[in-house]
Amino acid sequence: MQLSKSQYVRGLQCHKSLWLYKHKREVMTPTSPRQEFIFENGHRVGKLAQGLFPGGTEIEHDGQNFGGMITRTRRLIDQGANVIYEATFKSRNVLIMADILVRNRDVWDLYEVKASTSVKPQHKPDAAIQWYVIQDQLPLGKAHIVHVNSDYEFNGELDIAQLMAIEDITDEVLELQPGLDQNLQSMSNMLRQNEPHIPIGPQCDDPYECDFKAYCWQDVPSPSVFNLYRMDKNRKFELYHAGKISYADVCGENLSKTQQLQVDSALAREVYIDREAIRAFVDCAVYPINFLDFETFNSAIPKFPGQKPYRTAIPFQYSLHVLHPDGEIEHREFLADERRDPRAEIAQKLAADITPEGSIVAFSQATEKSIIRRLAAESAEHEQTLIAMGDRFIDLLKPFQQLMYYHPDFNGSFSIKSVLPAMFPDDAALDYKGLDIQAGDMASMVYADLDRINDASERQKKREALLEYCKLDTLAMVMIWQKLSDIAEIS
Ligand code: SF4
Repeated sequence: MQLSKSQYVRGLQCHKSLWLYKHKREVMTPTSPRQEFIFENGHRVGKLAQGLFPGGTEIEHDGQNFGGMITRTRRLIDQGANVIYEATFKSRNVLIMADILVRNRDVWDLYEVKASTSVKPQHKPDAAIQWYVIQDQLPLGKAHIVHVNSDYEFNGELDIAQLMAIEDITDEVLELQPGLDQNLQSMSNMLRQNEPHIPIGPQCDDPYECDFKAYCWQDVPSPSVFNLYRMDKNRKFELYHAGKISYADVCGENLSKTQQLQVDSALAREVYIDREAIRAFVDCAVYPINFLDFETFNSAIPKFPGQKPYRTAIPFQYSLHVLHPDGEIEHREFLADERRDPRAEIAQKLAADITPEGSIVAFSQATEKSIIRRLAAESAEHEQTLIAMGDRFIDLLKPFQQLMYYHPDFNGSFSIKSVLPAMFPDDAALDYKGLDIQAGDMASMVYADLDRINDASERQKKREALLEYCKLDTLAMVMIWQKLSDIAEIS
């Protein structure tokens, strides 16, 4: 049975995943918008990396005719091409497409492009299988991984040679060659048999999240040992394979304070409240209270001066609810024009929107504080105003992380997406599931792609979805704050 490079890599992660992919693909989880974005990001980095070796010819992808792709590749080689993108080969029943193949005198060098910022262990077998296939047909020189250089700082003009880093992995690729025949043989044997009995394990998320988890994990109850707060992954599987799966099963185990509370609260279906601690927490606030949340984007290919690949989170949006002492709630917001560097404008708007006095509440304050620090460093005009905000922060994560309030439905997660529905289970206005954008990473992806959307009404729709999403984040904080304040008031 023929394998592609990605199928071989899938089989290395888990034989069952390869078997299901070949024989039972209908149980595979469909690709999520988030995964699609990751693929698209990889594709863009791949295209950009071609610029390192200009003048090449690309073998157009034709999923219906791989034979044609192979023939075109061979023809280009015979005609004396020096650089080929997506060069396609098949040998020993394995089909591969090499990102970039470069003639180097009488040998060819292989360049595999990755959107990551370093060479990862899983990249080596990926390059090794390409080498294995191509070496039957061409003399090979070196194998490389081309990845993003996270130290590169954009100065207004993209310098591809600086943005991309090239690492020689020829030795590692050669070391892997002797095992390839056996790997392929064992995959081929496995595929001729019935579905393999492979239990769930750390391989389900390592190195990639498997797209058959919905199928293989269907009998794992919720909650289970896998929800235990900050427990080492291997320990979770140890307990699972010892039959300690539900919370009732793990009762006598050596659990941390948070894990124990998690289990006790779930088994008793009781909310745990430390009223005195909550009172001390809410009493710290000074009115008017500013509930603030930023959205940021980070990309492999930097767009704005000073931005580094994946390292500089550029804030493009915020939502701010202001709670006044008389109970009045005001909403202010900002969403940058996707065609411009948002930083100067967001600094100016924020300096005007945050009340000059009063607390600033964020959920997990480190992110908001670091964004404000960076905005201050980049804005001479508002530097002092922004720096002064740093001392006014209160972290709304604290009452949950420090176990002042624990709800059994938190399931060991203290993110706002877990806390909110547990505290307000029947409030449709506070349900992220009713929104087009339901998570921060989605917001970031939607914004990053806005300037590629030509249809103005489609772009406007996405902008409105971004505003709705961020607004719910800060409204959620207000509601949580008020609920904690109500609890604190009970004597
Ligand atoms: S979910 Fe886990 S066990 Fe199932 S196919 Fe994927 S990696 Fe294998």
